[in-house]
Amino acid sequence: MKLRTPEAFWLLKNGILKSYPSLESDINCDIAVIGGGITGSLISHALLKAGYDTVVIDKRDIGTGSTAATTSMLQYEIDTPMVKLAEMIGPEGAVSCYNAGIDSINILNDLVKTENLDAGFEMKRSLQVAHSKEAVKDLESEYEYRKKYGLNVEWLSPDTIKRNYKMESFPGILSEEGASIDAFMFAHELFRKNSERGLRVFDHTSIKKINYGSPVTIITEEGYKVVCKRVVFCTGFETFRMFKKRYANIISTFACVSEQNINLYDELKDILIWDTDLPYIYMRTTDDRRLLVGGEDVPFRNGEIRDKIKDRKAVRLQEKLRRLFPTIYFKEDYNWTGAFGTTKDGLPYIGEHPDFKNAIFVLGLGGNGITFSVQGMNLVLKILAGEYDPLLYYYRFNR
Ligand SMILES: Cc1cc2nc3c(=O)[nH]c(=O)nc-3n(C[C@H](O)[C@H](O)[C@H](O)COP(=O)(O)OP(=O)(O)OC[C@H]3O[C@@H](n4cnc5c(N)ncnc54)[C@H](O)[C@@H]3O)c2cc1C
Repeated sequence: MKLRTPEAFWLLKNGILKSYPSLESDINCDIAVIGGGITGSLISHALLKAGYDTVVIDKRDIGTGSTAATTSMLQYEIDTPMVKLAEMIGPEGAVSCYNAGIDSINILNDLVKTENLDAGFEMKRSLQVAHSKEAVKDLESEYEYRKKYGLNVEWLSPDTIKRNYKMESFPGILSEEGASIDAFMFAHELFRKNSERGLRVFDHTSIKKINYGSPVTIITEEGYKVVCKRVVFCTGFETFRMFKKRYANIISTFACVSEQNINLYDELKDILIWDTDLPYIYMRTTDDRRLLVGGEDVPFRNGEIRDKIKDRKAVRLQEKLRRLFPTIYFKEDYNWTGAFGTTKDGLPYIGEHPDFKNAIFVLGLGGNGITFSVQGMNLVLKILAGEYDPLLYYYRFNR
């Protein structure tokens, strides 16, 4: 008998770290941030720091959207290889977007240090391996391309991969810059610190209607009003329901985590690993010595079907894992599933939309949603200041 539906891993691990009041009066502010996941935590931090009177509203508990389910591999390599991205948006654009990813990891590292956040953040290298003999050639071209544009990459042979990581694999690209984090704890910690500095956070507050005038008026289900100059949507993948045009494909992705003290922890603790397969497999260790494995993506149809197949998908991930690591002893502690959005070029949507006056959207997409959310901090400030940034061109809605 299934007594209840399981929660996403990070929520289970951490519990609800802090509850906030729901909105029970009319209020005014400079900027209203809708969405209290990792994106909302970062954007509201940047806004508060820049001196904006900021309010955050979430219809759920803080961090309990995708942020509670994410595997939080922080990589500058987006889902679209740099070679392919350059064909789509030009080499200059591809280099800018890839470098922005590297900057994001460093910005997050600095933020964790300056704010003294206890969020399992660890700098790591990133290894992308070819999944087949046929895939080696394309990956090698990708390596050459990244090297040509100054990225810090190394080509690893199967022997080196086996020696360093006990992994049976085709060759791969080792990148210096990567990291992992407990995104749920990070968001909670950052909201907690900023709420002590004057950030007003309201959870369990659903929105009924928004009038996009000057000012913007947000009306909650309970009839209270938030009157503000601008609204920033950090509402994750649910946001796509707002638009007439289909900007993203929603994918179901699956993850499982081992018991603590996985036997290859020492070999794998400083590396993020993923392959070129479709659907891919990816993995990383956690700060409490587990191995977290994800992938097996399928198009999202409905939540019920997705939840039904999650155990099967976890078995499949572990079969793949054992093929790659013949000596691994992976005893599953937990598996879960969640949704994420993909775009045709692997880039996010960050910026304004013609149908929503005075609104800004920060929609990190693909396997790198979090690094895109970090980039959103600076980009939102630039939009508010009326300044241009080339990334706003690459991340615009009408591309
Ligand atoms: C299994 C899995 C693995 C992933 N792995 C990675 C990874 O390795 N690396 C990576 O970078 N990304 C990864 N992602 C993607 C990553 O999780 C997301 O990019 C990130 O969590 C998005 O954060 P967010 O704050 O934008 O969205 P969310 O965490 O979903 O937060 C949005 C919030 O907005 C609130 N909200 C929505 N609509 C409204 C409304 N109308 N009114 C009020 N509140 C509203 C929601 O309640 C929610 O709390 C993964 C995702 C999944 C599911």
